[in-house]
Amino acid sequence: MTDASDTQQWFGTDLGPGQSVNTEIEVTESYSGRNIAIPIQVRRGLRPGPTVFVSAALHGDELNGTGAIRTLIGDDSWTLDSGTLLMIPVLNLLGFERHSRYLPDRRDLNRCFPGSAGGSMASRLAKVIFDSVVARCDYGIDLHTAAVRRTNFPNVRANLDQDECLRLATAFGCGILLHGIGPKGSLRREATNLGCPTIVVEGGEVWKVESSVAECMTRGVLNVMKELGMMQGEPILPDSQVMIRETKWLRAERGGFMSMHCAPGDSVEKGQAIATNSSLLAEDQNRLEAPFSGIIIGMTTLPAVQPGEPVVHVGRLANTKSVRRHAKQVAGDDVQRTAHEHLATNIQVTTPTEE
Ligand SMILES: [Zn+2]
Repeated sequence: MTDASDTQQWFGTDLGPGQSVNTEIEVTESYSGRNIAIPIQVRRGLRPGPTVFVSAALHGDELNGTGAIRTLIGDDSWTLDSGTLLMIPVLNLLGFERHSRYLPDRRDLNRCFPGSAGGSMASRLAKVIFDSVVARCDYGIDLHTAAVRRTNFPNVRANLDQDECLRLATAFGCGILLHGIGPKGSLRREATNLGCPTIVVEGGEVWKVESSVAECMTRGVLNVMKELGMMQGEPILPDSQVMIRETKWLRAERGGFMSMHCAPGDSVEKGQAIATNSSLLAEDQNRLEAPFSGIIIGMTTLPAVQPGEPVVHVGRLANTKSVRRHAKQVAGDDVQRTAHEHLATNIQVTTPTEE
């Protein structure tokens, strides 16, 4: 908490209560010796409150969050009442410039936190971000998409055993909450360890701003600010939310072409047909079935597979009752229902033939 009567300094700019600034964080230098800086908007409410960062494109090709943050920046229908909000549409600017997940040195920036001043290029970059943003924040929201050639139904990932992470994850308003502490060196894990509880949101594909996914994200950010008392109003939440602690990637057993029998966000019963692998001449070779009752969290968008390649990511639900409850909550929530319908149009979903 900061005294609202105080001026805060953010990246060289003095900011009083109720003021905002578009500025940048100098993070490194280019091959031609010029400064490379990340654009950021800092907004202050009139009253004191928490400091929160919202970031996207930490993987430089994951743009749904970039779209969501740009919408929030340009939308004057909401007002920040208290606290400070840092909005960073593209965290990995060097990856973004090359439409790439990775940095030019082929490192994953999201495995390099908290970074070090004397380390690799990625590690130095991570340290600047960590010291100048994360260390000054009380909470964080980091927006992602699925990796290349995959899509995800919007879901929140966080250490759900940590009270404040659970609070943020719930308030964001996705129907699916996935428990995990995150990989070593990831922003959310290291930020949470530092005392800045941070959640990750995953939705959609790389290289796109998908309207329905971006809408889940903008609603979620506003929901979290309402939960933290930074904005007026109550978070808009679905009827029910499910906490998932076990997931499994179903992998192709045979090479060939996959006919999918489910779409992202679908609920499936144990044993249900998920995808059928066949030759290019449509001769059936192998069928994948749900190993347990669950939710299709993510899946491949590329139907051609080799043995061992991931096809569908299923999150485990306790029983048939929770499968039905999940389907009902998606159908009853405008934002998630639209995402469910939109994401399904990326995939040809067919009815399995009788075996
Ligand atoms: Zn990512």
